[in-house]
Amino acid sequence: MGSLMRRVFLWVARNGWLKDRLPRLPFMQRAVRRFMPGESLEDALAAAVPLQAAGIGSMYTKLGENLSSLAEADAVADQYIAVLDAIKARALRGEISVKPTQLGLDLDADRALTHLVRLAEHAAAIDSYLWIDMEGSAYTEPTIRLYERLRAVQPRTGICLQAYLRRTAGDIDRLRPLDPAIRLVKGAYDESESIAWRDKGEVDGSYRDLAVDFLTKGRGRPVRLGLGTHDVALIERIAAAVTPVGIERDGFEIEMLYGIRTSEQFRLAKAGYRVQTLIAYGDAWFPWYMRRLAERPANVTFAIRSLFP
Ligand SMILES: Cc1cc2nc3c(=O)[nH]c(=O)nc-3n(C[C@H](O)[C@H](O)[C@H](O)COP(=O)(O)OP(=O)(O)OC[C@H]3O[C@@H](n4cnc5c(N)ncnc54)[C@H](O)[C@@H]3O)c2cc1C
Repeated sequence: MGSLMRRVFLWVARNGWLKDRLPRLPFMQRAVRRFMPGESLEDALAAAVPLQAAGIGSMYTKLGENLSSLAEADAVADQYIAVLDAIKARALRGEISVKPTQLGLDLDADRALTHLVRLAEHAAAIDSYLWIDMEGSAYTEPTIRLYERLRAVQPRTGICLQAYLRRTAGDIDRLRPLDPAIRLVKGAYDESESIAWRDKGEVDGSYRDLAVDFLTKGRGRPVRLGLGTHDVALIERIAAAVTPVGIERDGFEIEMLYGIRTSEQFRLAKAGYRVQTLIAYGDAWFPWYMRRLAERPANVTFAIRSLFP
C-alpha cells in the first residue's frame, strides 16, 4: 500500500496538467508551508536565523526543474549569485544547492557548467559552498560528468548521490580520486528494479555501507560527507560504525530538510553533530512537494487537514 501511494505521488509529481492546477488551490498552499517557510528568498533567509543561533547551518534551493530556454537558466544562475550575496550580507553560515536542469543541463551542458563554475567561484569567494542536487536516473551520468569537470577547477563543490541506485558504489569509486564532497541521500524518484533497490531494508543497507566505506577510506583526506537523511537511527548506526576508526561526530554532516524532524535537528546539533538544514523557496514547489508526500504517507493526513483553515 505504502509503495503504491509512493508511486501515485511520484506520478502526480510528473503530471503537467495537475502541476498547472493543483498548486493554485489554497489548501495546497497552506499544506506546503510545513516544508517551506515561504515562497520568497526573504522567507528562507529569515528561517535560517533561529537555526544558526542553535549552531545549525543552512542551505538554500530555489524550487524548479527542467527549463525551456537558456535565458531561464541565466536568470536562475543570477538569482543564486544574489542568494550568495544575501548569505554574506547577513553573516549566515549558508550554502547553495542547485539542480543541474535548472541551469540548462538538458539544453546545453557546457553552458550549465559555465554557470556552475561562476556560482562555485562566487561561493568560494565568500567562504560558502555549492552543492549539485541529483535528479532522476536519466540525469545521473550527465550530472556526475558535470561534477567531475566542476570539481577539477573548483574544490568548494559537492554532489548528491542516491543510495537506492545500484551504480552508486561504482560512482563513488570513480569520484574518489577527486577527494569529493558527497551528499548521500536514499533517493526520491521512481526508479525501476533493474537499476535501483526498491525494498526499504536494501536501500537502508546500501546507504549504511556506502557512508561507512566512504568515511573509512576517506580518513585523513579532504573529503566531505553529508548524510542527507531524516533517518536518525541510520545516522546513529553509521556514527557507531566509524567511531572505532577514529571518526567522531564532527567528521561528517547531517543534512535534513526544513520542517522535517525539526526537534531532532536541534537535538543532534546540541549533541555535537554538524547539522545543516536545506531550506527550499520559490513558486515552482509542486513536484517537490509531491515527492515529500511520497516519502511519508503521514504527510498526506497533514495535507488533508490543511483543507480546513
Ligand atoms: C538535505 C537533503 C537533500 C536531498 N537532496 C536530494 C536530491 O538531490 N536528490 C534526491 O533524489 N533526493 C534528495 N533528497 C531526498 C531523499 O532522497 C529522500 O527522499 C528523503 O530524504 C526521505 O528519505 P529519508 O532518508 O529521510 O529516509 P526515510 O526512510 O524515508 O525516512 C526516515 C524517517 O524520517 C522521517 N521522514 C522522512 N521523510 C519525511 C517526510 N517527507 N516528512 C516527514 N517525515 C519524514 C520519518 O520519520 C521517517 O520514518 C534530499 C534529502 C535531504 C534531507
